[in-house]
Amino acid sequence: MKSTRRSLRQKVNLAAALLGAALVLGAVARADRPYAPSRDYHLQNVRVSLHFDIDQRKVMGKVTHTLSALRDGLTHLDFDCAELTVSSAHINGKDAAFSLQDNVLRVQLAQPSKAAQSFEVELQYEGKPTSGLYFILPDKDNPGRAREIWTQGEAEDTHHYIPIYDYPNDRTTSEMILTVPADWLTVSNGKLLSVQDAPSGQKTWTWRQSLPVSTYLISFVAGEYKDKKDTWRNIPISYNVPRGLEDTIDSTFRHTKEMLDFFSERFGVPYPWEQYAQTAVDDFVASGMENVSATTLAARDILHGDLASERPEAVDGLISHEMTHQWFGDLVTCKDWTNTWLNEGFATFGASLWEEHYYGADASSYRYWREQNAWMQSKELYPIPVVTRNIDDSVEYAGNVYDKAGWVIHMLRERLGDEVFFRALKHYLEARRLQNVVTADLVKDIEESSGANVDQFFDQWIYGAGAPRFTIGSTYDDSSKKVILSVRQTQKVEGRVGLFRVPVNVAVTTSSGEKLFPIEISKADETFSIPVDDAPQMILFDKGDKILKSIDFQKTPEEWIRQLQSAADVPDRADAAFALGNIHDNEGVASALGDAALRDKFWGVREEALRALGRINSPQARKQELAALSNEQPWVRAVAVEQLGKFKSDEDVAKRLEKLYKEDKAYSVRAAALQSLAADKAPNAAAFLEKALTVSSPNDVLRGAALRAMGSLGEDSVVPSLIEWSSPGKPSALRGIAMGALGRVDLKNHDLTARLISYLSEPSFDIRFSAIFALGRRGDPAAIEPLEAVLKTGQLSIGVPHSIENLIEELKNKAATQKTPSATDQKNERKNSDLKNGDAPASSNSQAVLDRLDRLDHQLSDMNNRLQHIEGSLPGSKSE
Ligand SMILES: [Zn+2]
Repeated sequence: MKSTRRSLRQKVNLAAALLGAALVLGAVARADRPYAPSRDYHLQNVRVSLHFDIDQRKVMGKVTHTLSALRDGLTHLDFDCAELTVSSAHINGKDAAFSLQDNVLRVQLAQPSKAAQSFEVELQYEGKPTSGLYFILPDKDNPGRAREIWTQGEAEDTHHYIPIYDYPNDRTTSEMILTVPADWLTVSNGKLLSVQDAPSGQKTWTWRQSLPVSTYLISFVAGEYKDKKDTWRNIPISYNVPRGLEDTIDSTFRHTKEMLDFFSERFGVPYPWEQYAQTAVDDFVASGMENVSATTLAARDILHGDLASERPEAVDGLISHEMTHQWFGDLVTCKDWTNTWLNEGFATFGASLWEEHYYGADASSYRYWREQNAWMQSKELYPIPVVTRNIDDSVEYAGNVYDKAGWVIHMLRERLGDEVFFRALKHYLEARRLQNVVTADLVKDIEESSGANVDQFFDQWIYGAGAPRFTIGSTYDDSSKKVILSVRQTQKVEGRVGLFRVPVNVAVTTSSGEKLFPIEISKADETFSIPVDDAPQMILFDKGDKILKSIDFQKTPEEWIRQLQSAADVPDRADAAFALGNIHDNEGVASALGDAALRDKFWGVREEALRALGRINSPQARKQELAALSNEQPWVRAVAVEQLGKFKSDEDVAKRLEKLYKEDKAYSVRAAALQSLAADKAPNAAAFLEKALTVSSPNDVLRGAALRAMGSLGEDSVVPSLIEWSSPGKPSALRGIAMGALGRVDLKNHDLTARLISYLSEPSFDIRFSAIFALGRRGDPAAIEPLEAVLKTGQLSIGVPHSIENLIEELKNKAATQKTPSATDQKNERKNSDLKNGDAPASSNSQAVLDRLDRLDHQLSDMNNRLQHIEGSLPGSKSE
């Protein structure tokens, strides 16, 4: 799954977002049960019939489980069952005694079982679940919205609407029989068998999933949706969106068939299911969820046609991630949540494969470079291995099973070479087809298919934590014609972090061209002597960025400039741009960056040059930023505009920004201009933003930008507008943004805190989430009790409780500080206050929380101007 810009409970979830994982994000499994439970039976088929009391948000169901006992002497059968009232149980057609305690439904057998004995267990039930099954309905504030019912099973929430065995270590076929209003559309797993008239103006839809899958992958969507149908190799495919969003279908799903072709070829196993449906739903709890043959996506993450040209890769990142899961996750499924990386790492990797195939190797290597830099900076993720039973702290866990694991698979490919690597994947998919796996299965399949032993690789990268931090030095000995390269691993060796053994290519360019020298690093401190024919002009350690690492390599400005201008690979040029951003007062540097910002052949390097200029922050750098506004790609222009917000305010720049807002063709550039005007504290910014609030745009991208900018501006005069736009009745995406902004203005105003507290009880997940984080940011201790109450409800996706606990702790620290302010605290508060410019005074250790809040806020609210890789990563490259 992919979290929203990333719990096992809610796939791409918000937790991931916090991490710096990615907007892009799916839910990560719940960490309750890192070990798979022992099983009493094997589930063979689950037939579910559901109908609904829609206004009451109630589900009425009957489920028939066909199962076989795994041993002699069972006296009862247990099913996971939460928030449901069971009215009857029958075994093989006869009444059976049952009891429900601690979310376990126990049905008594008439006699002890025999191993392999079959049973048919029929249960009647009803309930109003708050997890697993969600009703999205019109209300007084949103009278026109589409009516929808959708499910989210991962990690262990299917048992909130079906009494069922709810852990991945078993697989079953299923039938989903849904009775809904006649004008509704339904989507479920597998094949649609029939749609028949039912009483009271309803219709009954019958779906069948004929290959066995784990129960968290069972799903349905039902409601007022519009669809577009197609076929791929005689398999029905469909795109479904809430009514009113029809114009997002072509721009969002345009590459679906090509992707199905591509992955079928690349993985060596044709797409395995009887249909592929993709359905966008409102208020989804993740960005995407790979329900078998029927992916569910968040409507907030799909793309308006008018905005498609403003993003380099549309929403291909999300679409390809969930599609890869149809092989990795659905066809082959992790046995327990400890091995989730076998789902999520491969889905992350698959999205990069598509990117490389369709958008080019520059695009995917740039993405890896950015993810690497973000990950290497994450103090939470670094010390935790990809595979760990200690997954209580699932926030940390989530980031590694996505981004780090995706990187590790990328390295494995590099290590094995394409021929061996893809042969191994094909063997794994075929050998483990329709099975549940652990990491050791993959290791064994690689060895079986190719002879390659990858034990050391897995020990280091999957069971071990961290990644190497290199410090490199080089000298040239003219008499012996040798480059002496010193290589130190400077990471602290402790816990699960060790010294790394990695093969590295060193590229040395001399007057006669570039030569590659493969070396292997294995010690803390090593020196390599490299014979060359002439003085080196450029030395690249790990040319092309093939190893997950950080690197500190002292070079002169001239050397960095040469690297920026002439290195063949995007990561090496991007490294140079980054390094040059630390060199101030050097005209040659600013001018080389300006040149790269306009002329580098890959847009990502142009963006990095612009960010570097933003850090240099000199008049000359500003001139280069302004010149770069002529870039053709709107996303590069938007970076230039964003960087202009970092320069000291200046009337000319303010005018230029106003003009860009009014005249640029791209909404994303216009939106960035509003943000920069606010960041510059331009004198008339508040009035300008008020006016921008009156302008309509696709997905309300401009109003969203104006509201967010009001938060950055931090002036109390914008409060009435923020109150208006955060109120019930306004579009929910804008409400969330306005709430985020209310977290940053008029901080002494307790009425604003009270208003945000009142939003904590709203049904929409997005709204509650926005309110939670806005309260954290305001720093008003009045929010402590209400936030503690939210924690107690337990209705939160994985990782979220952890974040809320952090917020509460910060608020309590602050309350304590206010009671007994020491001189030092007061000084710190003033200092932080100045720095943060209107934000709540923050204790120094709360800065990290504020930083994370900023990222989260960005993720949550930036519906229209997102990073292209939802699951991949928060904006966290080292240049940010
Ligand atoms: Zn995923």
